[in-house]
Amino acid sequence: MTDYLKYAIDLVAVLLLALGIKGLSKVRSARGANQLAAVAMGLAVIGLLVNYVGVPTFNTQAWSWIVGGSIVGGVLGVITAQRVPMTSMPETVALFNGCGGMSSLLVALAAALEPIALDATGPVALVSIVVSVFVGSITFTGSIVAMAKLQGWLSTPPWMQSRLRHVVNIALAVAALVGAIEMVRTTGGATGLWLLVVASSLLGIGVTLPIGGADMPVVISLLNSYSGVAAAAAGFVVGSQLLVVAGAMVGAAGLILTQVMCNGMNRSLVSVLFGGALGASSSSSAGGGEYTNITSCSVEECALTLEAAERVIIVPGYGLAVAQAQHTLREVTRSLEAAGIDVTYAIHPVAGRMPGHMNVLLAEADVPYEQLKEMDVINPEFPATDVVLVLGANDVVNPQAKTDPNSPLYGMPVLDVQQARTVFVVKRGMSAGYSGIKNDLFDLANTSMVFGDAKKVLGDLLVELKDLGVGK
Ligand code: NAP
Repeated sequence: MTDYLKYAIDLVAVLLLALGIKGLSKVRSARGANQLAAVAMGLAVIGLLVNYVGVPTFNTQAWSWIVGGSIVGGVLGVITAQRVPMTSMPETVALFNGCGGMSSLLVALAAALEPIALDATGPVALVSIVVSVFVGSITFTGSIVAMAKLQGWLSTPPWMQSRLRHVVNIALAVAALVGAIEMVRTTGGATGLWLLVVASSLLGIGVTLPIGGADMPVVISLLNSYSGVAAAAAGFVVGSQLLVVAGAMVGAAGLILTQVMCNGMNRSLVSVLFGGALGASSSSSAGGGEYTNITSCSVEECALTLEAAERVIIVPGYGLAVAQAQHTLREVTRSLEAAGIDVTYAIHPVAGRMPGHMNVLLAEADVPYEQLKEMDVINPEFPATDVVLVLGANDVVNPQAKTDPNSPLYGMPVLDVQQARTVFVVKRGMSAGYSGIKNDLFDLANTSMVFGDAKKVLGDLLVELKDLGVGK
């Protein structure tokens, strides 16, 4: 009876997870989808508890571990989610991936060290333990390194930039393989197991440490996929169909996201993983020469142009998130809309520092979902637009990506903002974006720079618009 109940709970949990992942693909349904996935996780825990009903020796002990672990994990999750600022989300995701990898590693280790308790005998269980330990260790150490690098706690040692790192990593991979073979040969022998654990953990560090800050979010997405693979393997180890299915879904979703990010940044996965550091630089005009035709204007001039516009497109970027200016922006756009001006937001797939960064930021400020338009949809609309307001965005509006085959950005899909009648770029100075190169947009005749912190500029703009009577 309990078996049927557990299968029923698992089945519902899997369905909710699948619906959750599907819902995440649309801004409108993403919040609800996340809640569905959380309910699925809750059901998974309940299913586990039901599993132990009627198993006398495990009852109290297993129940208290499961309930205790869920409470501690849940409280830590809530505290983290509430405290972490949006700009630190990639580090947080890396940490969560690391926890996922570590869980799979620990489950596999427990099974290997106490095979009877976890019913881990037989070739399928043995191979699953090997995969779970290997991928789980790489995910755990790689994610911790990724988080530490993004936080600025770790930098790449010079020898890691050289080809020597490939030799070291290959040696570690061979050592892991030897450990795996030895473990299978001796049916779970400790020597092979620990060689596999140590070599794979070091491999995770060796592969992630040389990767530069600019590519790190791609690596985090890949590690997310690995954490799914490790969980699926752990599912085979403990005989949990739910874990197998959920892990496979996370693995596939992470891989697709990695591909989307690589396309959005115009990087191949091979060059991300083996190309070494492509550091985020903030030096101005590192590629493509000096600026020759910069025009700057006051907030008042910007307000006057906006007052006369019929159609305005907002382009949010990383600087908007740093300035936490989304709420002030919403007040500005409310004034414009009240004056009958058509306002939409152009969302580039990799604007900010993680996919969906801008969607979440604008949703936080109650921007209606239907006003957010993806790059492919909005690009044809720029020629018919009066004013584009670029707020703390840089690389994602650089025309060099389409015009200069020698540019490091060449081939990256960008927003064609230069086709609008007037473009205002709000940023603090002339420093470069993530790629570290000059932006040809700033030199164009129809572009005016409005220098200042995005929140301050938008606050001043709101005052100017009110003085002009816009939206009253
Ligand atoms: P960006 O190219 O990094 O440019 C951000 C701009 O914001 C900077 O030029 C900076 O100029 C300005 N800024 C910073 N603080 C500001 C503030 N307080 N107020 C006003 N402006 C401020 O940003 P993006 O256009 O959003 O492009 C994203 C970049 O990140 C792309 O290169 C993308 O490939 C990369 N990336 C994205 C992802 C992802 O998944 N989304 C992942 C990895 C990498 P000043 O210093 O002069 O103000």
